[in-house]
Amino acid sequence: LKATFANIEQVDADVQAFLTLNQEAATKQAAAIDEAGIPADQPFAGVPVGIKDNIVTKDLKTTAASKILGNFMPIYNATVVDKLQAAGAITAGKLNLDEFAMGSSTENSAFQTTKNAWDYTRVPGGSSGGSAAAVASGQVPMALGTDTGGSIRQPAAFNGIVGLKPTYGRVSRWGVIAFASSLDVVGSLTRTVKDAALTLNVIAGHDDKDATTADIPVPDYTAKLGQSIKGMKIGLPSEYLGEGVDPAVAAQVQKAADQFRALGATVETVSLPHTKYAVAAYYIIASSEASSNLQRFDGIRYGFRAEDVKNLEDVYVRSRSEGFGPEVKRRIMLGTFSLSAGFYDAYFKKAAQVRTLISRDFDQVFADYDFIIAPTTPTPAFKIGEKVTDPLTMYMNDILTIPVNLAGLPAVSVPAGFVAGMPVGLQLIGKQFDEATLLQAADAFE
Ligand code: GLN
Repeated sequence: LKATFANIEQVDADVQAFLTLNQEAATKQAAAIDEAGIPADQPFAGVPVGIKDNIVTKDLKTTAASKILGNFMPIYNATVVDKLQAAGAITAGKLNLDEFAMGSSTENSAFQTTKNAWDYTRVPGGSSGGSAAAVASGQVPMALGTDTGGSIRQPAAFNGIVGLKPTYGRVSRWGVIAFASSLDVVGSLTRTVKDAALTLNVIAGHDDKDATTADIPVPDYTAKLGQSIKGMKIGLPSEYLGEGVDPAVAAQVQKAADQFRALGATVETVSLPHTKYAVAAYYIIASSEASSNLQRFDGIRYGFRAEDVKNLEDVYVRSRSEGFGPEVKRRIMLGTFSLSAGFYDAYFKKAAQVRTLISRDFDQVFADYDFIIAPTTPTPAFKIGEKVTDPLTMYMNDILTIPVNLAGLPAVSVPAGFVAGMPVGLQLIGKQFDEATLLQAADAFE
């Protein structure tokens, strides 16, 4: 742990992944392990981990990278944090993100700009950019992230590491600061598939405090690692290799397909015809849910309150106007509009219907195939500042990750070579609650 903090001090001066360090409490925890020895029932005993700063940690500042929560000190842990602690993990600190996880580059953080671990002039991706950069730069072996529309897989791809988004309902969201409740999932960023499996073993499972968690057994996710994938059927959707996808990225995916064939699997072209509507549906659904979830930040109960206010309405209006950044405000306005009486049928309801069509596309493919492969992102990591003034271009960057969230499926991004010196990711998409097969296939590829 001493080495970890010494390393963070050096490396993170450039990378800027951490928002808050937990050095004092962490050191005490490590000392206790030194004294008592490593408990046999704690698979993560003494392992330093990083936690995305939209996951609440008791007595450790949790900001969601927003000014409105700039001084928020939670009085409880998220279930996933409790589970990691019970497994012996030590929280090294809290990691930067796009404010309230809204973004694809971590440039929407109210506090600092995290750098890509491979090239400090490029974005680390987002919204779990701090988590990805911290792991890729060797600061911690595992960090938790959240994935609402790609926020684990896209930064994992941009930083050349493994990012696992479990099935919706596999991992508790209790204590995760809500963005879009029907899409948000907690998962891991790690260097290897095995570390992803070990982490899922710890964090998965039903939680009485989150009614959307599934009450089904948690298998040992490491059990199928190393097993052959011979005879498996893999679908490669044509829509994920078309317009907007860098041909050099598509070529890496074709190479990956050949690698799977060499392992004894068959790879065939399939179609997910409603893919082209996914980004539009997502931005209506996610923004609508966000506009509702973010009502709680009113300047009364949490964090930031504007100074010199005249009356109650002034508290609300000024605290929110000054506390939220521009992207968060854009989402709140978009979502409030989509949900308003006159526009609900045309926007929110229509988006919900499109979501069902997207789910059915996947169901049809999974009737015949074990899993799907695709690029994780259309391009490798872009330059800091390159897309920040153009929200639509930024939104389109998530076109290959968003459909998975709309359908609630598990998916993992694994490193698949380099394009122009930057890492690219291969995305594997699996059947609901079948993370074990997904990880088996990712491990075989790795
Ligand atoms: N980039 C997407 C967005 O801005 C997804 C973010 C996420 O998964 N949290 O909404």
